Order: sequence, then structure tokens, then C-alpha cells
Amino acid sequence: MTFHQLFIPNEILYGKDSFAEIGKQAKALGKKVLIISDPIMEKIGNVSICEKHLQNHDVPYAKYTGIDSEPTDIHVEDALSVCREEKCDVIVAVGGGSCIDTAKAVAVMMTNEGHIRDYSGGKKKFNEKPLPLIAVPTTAGTGSEVTKVTVIIDTKNDVKMMISQPQLLPAIAIVDPALTISCPPNVTAATGVDALCHAIEAFISRRAQPVTDTLALKAIELIVGNLRNAYANGEDVEVREGMALGSMLAGMAFSNASVTLVHGMSRPIGAMFHVPHGISNAMLLPAVLEFSKEEAIDRLSTVARHVLPETKELSEHEAVEELINEIKQLCNDLHIPNLKTWGIDKEKFDLVVSKMATDALASGSPGNNPKVPAHEEIIDLYYNCYEYDFSTNRKVAK
Ligand code: NAD
Repeated sequence: MTFHQLFIPNEILYGKDSFAEIGKQAKALGKKVLIISDPIMEKIGNVSICEKHLQNHDVPYAKYTGIDSEPTDIHVEDALSVCREEKCDVIVAVGGGSCIDTAKAVAVMMTNEGHIRDYSGGKKKFNEKPLPLIAVPTTAGTGSEVTKVTVIIDTKNDVKMMISQPQLLPAIAIVDPALTISCPPNVTAATGVDALCHAIEAFISRRAQPVTDTLALKAIELIVGNLRNAYANGEDVEVREGMALGSMLAGMAFSNASVTLVHGMSRPIGAMFHVPHGISNAMLLPAVLEFSKEEAIDRLSTVARHVLPETKELSEHEAVEELINEIKQLCNDLHIPNLKTWGIDKEKFDLVVSKMATDALASGSPGNNPKVPAHEEIIDLYYNCYEYDFSTNRKVAK
């Protein structure tokens, strides 16, 4: 193909107070809303704020707020039952990637036949138009509000299914950075590194294209510039705005350029050991960059020179070393554990590591990496990450 294609939602409302628009937007899309959210969103009041906005525009609604972990096919089936019983024709997701991904799966499965598992890895296409979805992220984050991707755990096969098709794009994304202020530091760190992985992986992906390059570089700049402060001082609105924008741009970038080896290896860790997605990415990021760097010197040195002005005078190789050190130090500052310190049992790890490498390769993401690993190399990388040491001598201006 000589040209590039870019998929993004029809409409994005971005910035302060945009959440208040949800009633008006939902009314224009259908007759009855299903709100999909989680118990923490209920507890901190985001669900009731959403309800109030809908009531202000006389929009009837039902709720499914049962997402108590990263989403599984069981959550999807439960939410689908509510949607059918309540005869809802518009979906609103309020929450992190877990709520948005569940909502995407519900929106497509309301109009397409079979089980969500049938669509894993593109085996089957969604032929019917989904119900319209409004996605409101409360983490910064997955970027799921602007991606054509959903990630659902297949509980039958212990696999995190990555499904990527244009029908999974929300009709509308509402990105109100104020909603991320309540994120505790551990969630800010995990979700922020997830966004950083999206941007870096999109930039070094074999499927990168000029538009995604532009989005990814800006996203890396915003995330590297704001994540430490968002972690240390979550109340800082400007910093949260930087992260929300960075995460959204990173989502657009990876949704169109694809993720690579970090995400490919991360999903099996999530499926086997229930490590939150952002943490499992962070556990892998520096080691995977070290593995990939020789095939990505040009791309990684571009990133280094963009975000670390002091590397402009260095050789390409030296600049890449500085970038990887900066990322290690960032993970260190965010108190990212390795697989061992997270508490993963070594014997269990030994038993499943080969299946994890097989599942990583089967997902297709490693095939987009600048250096495509063999099965054995993935196993070696998992072992390297098991006891990975994030410490560096790097001094960072806070
Ligand atoms: P999450 O949605 O699982 O949320 C993590 C925790 O933080 C939950 O307990 C949630 O209730 C809480 N939380 C969320 N927002 C909060 C807030 N504002 N204040 C307080 N607590 C808050 O985390 P996530 O990282 O956003 O999503 C992870 C899921 O998204 C994984 O399943 C991952 O695989 C998937 N994902 C999807 C895409 C995509 O494009 N579809 C991309 C990356 C990751």
C-alpha cells in the first residue's frame, strides 16, 4: 500500500468541563443509555455526576457497574444481559481502560452474532454497525477512548485477547482531565507508563507512518515532561492536563501504528498473574528497548534528542543509551517493581514462561518490533525482567 489510513473517533471533546456535555451528546445518539462503569467510579461519585448530566437532558438510562478487575468475557456477557433487558441503544463508558474496553465489546456484540472470543485476533470481522459509544476516560492512560482496540480476558484460555477493528472506535470521546485528579499515585504511575509505552512503541513500530510519528513524539514529550509530577502531586491540574493530552495522542498513534514487543509480552503477564496492565508494561519497557535498540538507533535517537536536549551533542548510540537510562530512572522514581518483587512465584513462572512466549508471539504485536524476537529470545527477556534492576546513576531535574 502506498498510502496510510488513520482511524479516530468522529468527535472528540477535550478539556475542562467537557464531561458536562455528555447529556446533550447522548440525547442526540439514541433513546436510552447504558452506563458502564466500576464500583470505584460509583464510590467517588463519577457515576452519579454522569447520571445528573443525563437527567438534565431527560435521557433515560440503566447501569452496569460490575467491572471489578481488568475486563473478562464474563463482564462483557453480564453487561450485555443488562443492555438487552433494559433495551438500551447508546453506551456510555465512565472509567479507565477496563470500563471503556468492556463498553466497546458490549457495543459491538449488541449488533453482531456469536461470542466476543470469536473475534479474537481478527478471526472474524464485525459486519454490523455497533451501538454508538461515548467513552469518558478517568485515567491517563490507555487512550482507549480514541482507539479501535479492545482488550478482553478470555477466561476459558487464560489469554488477554487484543481485538482491533474500526467498529470498536467510540463515536465520541470526552476527555476531561479533571476526572483523572482522583487517581491515586499507583494508578497514575501504572497508567502513565502504559501511555508512554504506546507512544514509544508506535514510534518504533514497523507500521509507523508520518501522522502517527507526529502524534507519538508529542505524546512522549508530554508524558516524560509530566508523569513524575502527576505521580508526586496529583492535584496539579496543569500536569494532569498534560498527561490526559499525552495519553490521548499516544492512543491515536498506537491504534494506527500498532504496539510492538512490550505490549505483546505484557498481555500474557496480565493474563497469568493478574498484574495491572500498566505495571506489566513498565516491568518490560527498559529491557525490551535494550533488546531492540540496535535495530532502532535512528528512531530511538530521534526520541532522545526530542525529549532530552542534552543528548543533541552526543552520537546516536550515546543518545539512545541516555534515553534508556532516563526511562529506567523514571520507572525507578515511580517505584515500578520487577516480576519478582511484585511477588510472582518463581516455580509458577518457570512452568508458564514458555506458554507466555507462545501467546506473546501469537498476538502479532512482536512482529511489529524493529527486532523481531524468536520464541527463545522472548523467554530470555522474560527471565531478564524477572529480576530486572531499574536503578541508574542518572540525576533528574524534578
Ligand atoms: P483500569 O481501568 O483497570 O483502572 C485501574 C484502577 O483504577 C481501577 O480500580 C479503577 O477503578 C481505578 N480508577 C480509574 N480511574 C480512577 C480515578 N480517576 N480515580 C480513582 N481511581 C480510578 O486501568 P487502565 O489502565 O485505565 O485500563 C487497563 C485496561 O485497559 C487493561 O485491561 C488493558 O489491557 C486495557 N488497555 C486497552 C487499550 C485499548 O486501546 N483498548 C489500550 C491499553 C490498555
